[in-house]
Amino acid sequence: MAVVADPLRLVVGDKAAKRLASALDLHTVGDLLGYYPRRYDKRGELTDLAGLRDGDYVTVQAEVAKTYVRKMNSRSGSIFEAIVTDGRGQLTLTFFGHGRQDWRQRALSPGVRGLFSGQVSSFHGKRQLTHPEYELLGSGSSGARAEEFANELIPVYRATAQLQSWKIADSVRVALDVLDVPDDPLPGEMRARLGLCGYADALRGIHRPVDQADVHRARTRLKWDEAFALQVLLAQRRLAALSFSSIPRPPVEGGLLADFDAALPFDLTAGQLKAGGVIGADLAREHPMHRLLQGEVGSGKTVIALRAMLQVVDAAGQAALLAPTEVLAQQHFRSLSHLLGPLGMAGQLGGAECATRLTLITGSLGAAARRKALLEAASGGAGIIIGTHALLEDRVQFADLGLVVIDEQHRFGVEQRDALREKAGDGRPHMLVMTATPIPRTVAMTVFGDLDVSTLTELPAGRSPISTHVVPVAERPHYLARTWERIREEVAEGRQAYVVCPRIGGEEPADSAELADSDELAEASDGLARPPIAVLDLAAELSAGPLAGLRVAILHGRLPPEEKDKVMLAFADGLVDVLVTTTVVEVGVDVPNAVVMVIMDADRFGVSQLHQLRGRVGRGSDPGLCLLVTEVPEAAPARERLDAVASTVDGFALSRIDLEQRREGDVLGTAQAGRKSSLKLLQLLRDEDLIGQARQEAITLVDTDPALAGQPGLAEAVRALVDAEQTTFLEKA
Ligand code: ADP
Ligand code: MG
Repeated sequence: MAVVADPLRLVVGDKAAKRLASALDLHTVGDLLGYYPRRYDKRGELTDLAGLRDGDYVTVQAEVAKTYVRKMNSRSGSIFEAIVTDGRGQLTLTFFGHGRQDWRQRALSPGVRGLFSGQVSSFHGKRQLTHPEYELLGSGSSGARAEEFANELIPVYRATAQLQSWKIADSVRVALDVLDVPDDPLPGEMRARLGLCGYADALRGIHRPVDQADVHRARTRLKWDEAFALQVLLAQRRLAALSFSSIPRPPVEGGLLADFDAALPFDLTAGQLKAGGVIGADLAREHPMHRLLQGEVGSGKTVIALRAMLQVVDAAGQAALLAPTEVLAQQHFRSLSHLLGPLGMAGQLGGAECATRLTLITGSLGAAARRKALLEAASGGAGIIIGTHALLEDRVQFADLGLVVIDEQHRFGVEQRDALREKAGDGRPHMLVMTATPIPRTVAMTVFGDLDVSTLTELPAGRSPISTHVVPVAERPHYLARTWERIREEVAEGRQAYVVCPRIGGEEPADSAELADSDELAEASDGLARPPIAVLDLAAELSAGPLAGLRVAILHGRLPPEEKDKVMLAFADGLVDVLVTTTVVEVGVDVPNAVVMVIMDADRFGVSQLHQLRGRVGRGSDPGLCLLVTEVPEAAPARERLDAVASTVDGFALSRIDLEQRREGDVLGTAQAGRKSSLKLLQLLRDEDLIGQARQEAITLVDTDPALAGQPGLAEAVRALVDAEQTTFLEKA
């Protein structure tokens, strides 16, 4: 007998184990049994050959229609060809060999059915597999094989050239035969109540189903396992957080926050008031707050975060704001300084009596400035410290860190959050995470399940609407000229524009630097052969041509930080008319006078990213215009994506579309990639109900048995999940 943790070698032998390890990275019995079939073929039901694409590695079930042998001219050998069919289309199997290949002719005679596995290519316009591996089905095949395929359904695994689907199935069968599951990961009572089958049964059902009902039962059970283990882990984390203490930071009468509110030139929206109230109450508690504040770009999150920071400063603490990039850190520094006015100018001329100070800590500070900033943080002179990853370094010390605000969570891992937490002296700091990426409920439950969530659903009044249009260059080339004219018109009215490109350009071939800024960059869409439009190229073209005479500047991730800052400042001050840029402008950048955004090769970007980008315009009193320029033809899926973005400004609707179009792992983001491997069957949108139910069950269980003492199988599953997260983090580091 074998358990899931056993190395495969013990079960399938050295040779097969080595192959499974090298071809598919499978090492234990559990790894192999967790490698689920990608589809099931019905016995006798031939694979549709029309769907094959060149280059794909495929396993098809087909019937030999005819065969022939041709002599090779130059050599003594022959070419044996078998034409196989699915009843409609055809595929040629080509074998080069010695002599007349009689044995092959006997095996692959017309009427024989089999599984054929190989890489699809085209030869003289015909699809073929050259030297495919094959297994014949039914009479005439070996005894073991006949039994293997006696079931109605044949599992088809994602295979490689080294390892065919049926060889994987062979190893799986051996493993299932000896599998022993001493501790089902699910409590027996829950299994019975929910009508879920046992773990070992589920593995058999998914790998060797007799019929579809078998598959369904197995999938339901295994999906539940994925959802449940994750929710148990998150419930444990929430519970653990409760066992930590924080210094309560209740509101103080007559403090900075009160002065700030009194001076605020606008009324908070209902959503802001509600979120602000909840956060204020969280801060007053003696356990750390872990809250996600989500809302569209411009919905007023920053103001709410600042109010929270002021409450903490009033209560003698400090607040740190962590931004994902240097540009954003600097922008936050400027906008918070601006919002605070005299309240942020302690010790300066014109500073208010109860004022605090802001300080900025980034990687690009000079030695003297850094020393000063570090001292401000360590002495408590600065109440609000803003920075990038540099804030996580050991030498950054705080006098009394009470609150950490993180802008755009998805760029930070759990470990980075922890690094900051450890900088707090007594107790843990409260934590507020802001994100402008609207997250569907189930994703929030899955990815941010250890956080409480507040959502700002409305934009402040007086915000101008953004209209978005697709500029289809393929069908209407002259629209592009019109686009540049449009920019000229706006500039003539004293307004500004962004032109966003997917690439920097210049000598560097792969733009590796920029990919870090835009990890959502969609895969090269629809096979356009040319490289994506680049900032450096386009800026030069525009300055020399359609935008000649305008003040055009460039911004991208390869510029030195101080240069980036200079460009952004110049743009914000209206000294630049048109900013040609990469996605570094994506988040948080706020220039109300910029009203037009043109996005080049828009099909290269993900739905959410486009939505984020266009949030940069329409921030002032003038209506915003976003133009999505694409060469992709009308019917292509990438165009549907763009049409979706053009048709609505509802970020939640778009994030659902995004999620439907992308693989779950991508949506969870790189920081959460450990979750990728653990979600094989679960689909965050479709399985919404199941996830919700798993969450409830998890909370109930963890309440009564926090350490899972009575559930060894479950404890093991949760441990595996944590391992996966950590491995991913270590690999990245
Ligand atoms: P977010 O951080 O969600 O993108 P911000 O907090 O930066 O949004 O707010 C965007 C702009 O709207 C800022 O200029 C801010 O001062 C302003 N703002 C915030 N809340 C309100 C409000 N309730 N009414 C009017 N303007 C607001
Ligand atoms: Mg903001």
